[in-house]
Amino acid sequence: MMRTRRVALCLLLLPAACSRPRETPAPDGSPTHGPDVGAVRDAAPDAAPPAPSPADAAAAPLPSLSTTPNEFLARGIPTFVLGTAGDDRADHIVATQVGMVRDLLKASATVLDDSIDVAAGPSAWPPNPVVYGSPDVNSVVARLAPVLPLSFGPDRLAFGEREFHGTDLRVIAVIPARAPDAAGPGHPEFLLYAGTGPAAVAEINAVHHGAEPILIANAFGRLQTGRWERSPDGALSAAFPDPPSARIAWRVVERPLAPATDDGTPATVRFGFPEQLAPVDDEAAVIDAALRGLAIAVGKLSLAAPVSLSLYVYPDRRSKLSLTGDQGDGHAVVSANVIHVLHADPSPDGPLESLVAHEGTHILAYAAWGPPGSALVGEGLAVWASGRYGGATLDEWKARLDAPLRLADFLGAGFRRTPEATTYPLAGLLVRAAVDVVGLGNVRDRLYGASASTWNDACVAAGTTADALQSAVDGMLAR
Ligand SMILES: [Zn+2]
Repeated sequence: MMRTRRVALCLLLLPAACSRPRETPAPDGSPTHGPDVGAVRDAAPDAAPPAPSPADAAAAPLPSLSTTPNEFLARGIPTFVLGTAGDDRADHIVATQVGMVRDLLKASATVLDDSIDVAAGPSAWPPNPVVYGSPDVNSVVARLAPVLPLSFGPDRLAFGEREFHGTDLRVIAVIPARAPDAAGPGHPEFLLYAGTGPAAVAEINAVHHGAEPILIANAFGRLQTGRWERSPDGALSAAFPDPPSARIAWRVVERPLAPATDDGTPATVRFGFPEQLAPVDDEAAVIDAALRGLAIAVGKLSLAAPVSLSLYVYPDRRSKLSLTGDQGDGHAVVSANVIHVLHADPSPDGPLESLVAHEGTHILAYAAWGPPGSALVGEGLAVWASGRYGGATLDEWKARLDAPLRLADFLGAGFRRTPEATTYPLAGLLVRAAVDVVGLGNVRDRLYGASASTWNDACVAAGTTADALQSAVDGMLAR
């Protein structure tokens, strides 16, 4: 029992591709924790318990209203239901997110949304369905919309009369099974990952969740938990008995962000500082340092039209933890183009500039290039762009890493099972080698989106081979 519970937690808490070196480890059990990376090794049960058939679920006279995502996922091998109803970018975001979750599992199945005949009811569904995408991305959710207990708008999530507003909303909820009636078809219980906006599921598994039937999050993390209730007339509704997470007012300062080319399109950076605090003495220096960091990222990625983004500056680790659930130095929320950073030394080439270059690369690359296919290249790009990791330059890291390190070991879930002090500098050196060998364009078009399973072919398409890139990295580490 304990083991299956850990399985579910590990699956759910896929770390963000943008997690940053953390100088102070999160306290045990803190919401900032990613999974116990050692435990991910056991990620999927060797023999999953038999899943209840969809027909059984439909026939149950009193479907559960209190199933949590952890309980749902502990039942058996999940079937991911991919949304394909969005544009290419939205569909790619869904597929990449599911691919990253699948990497952590020994067993799972995947079906496309249009393979399910929703009108036919629960028997048409696969077992243990985990549905990714909002109605504009996932046709299953769109076809069920008239009978779902929640509804989606471009900047709104509604549970009956309770509405949440924002273009950065995400919902993770176990939707109770429903019997068919005059209003529409029945469906089995399913786990839904969705939100407002076509990128709502981007890195959604990095949101700390799993223990509550309904969770709503936004760019600041967990916002509101809830549960399902049934009224005397049998109608299903959501209840939100607990207060929402703390949010504060921000004083906003806007600055332009120049593109990498003269004929490009500038972006806007919205800096947020806590309104309740007097401006810090070095606020102008903080803004300048962050803009230098972003300019480094724009330049390294050679972006002609960088995306506009928001950057929130927290005075201390405790504030950042309480307001975002993450006490790391910095983290990026790619679904909302938002960066959260701790105040740090804003001197030229200093910690804040480097931190923002790193996190900015995650945002700018995701917006311009789409989702990274591996954490190795996603983090590698950010380390390469910022030029350093943990305060040391990539050249300094060359002498610190112990060769040989096999890139193939880090393309999949192995990346998150290994200490960052090995994987991040290695990833940065890989991207440096790849840019040297095949050029930035091929890194962007071929290697960035490649997963562990497509890496070898992607290297060939880029004009090299996986062995040649390995040799280039080995050559950097040789001493
Ligand atoms: Zn990162």
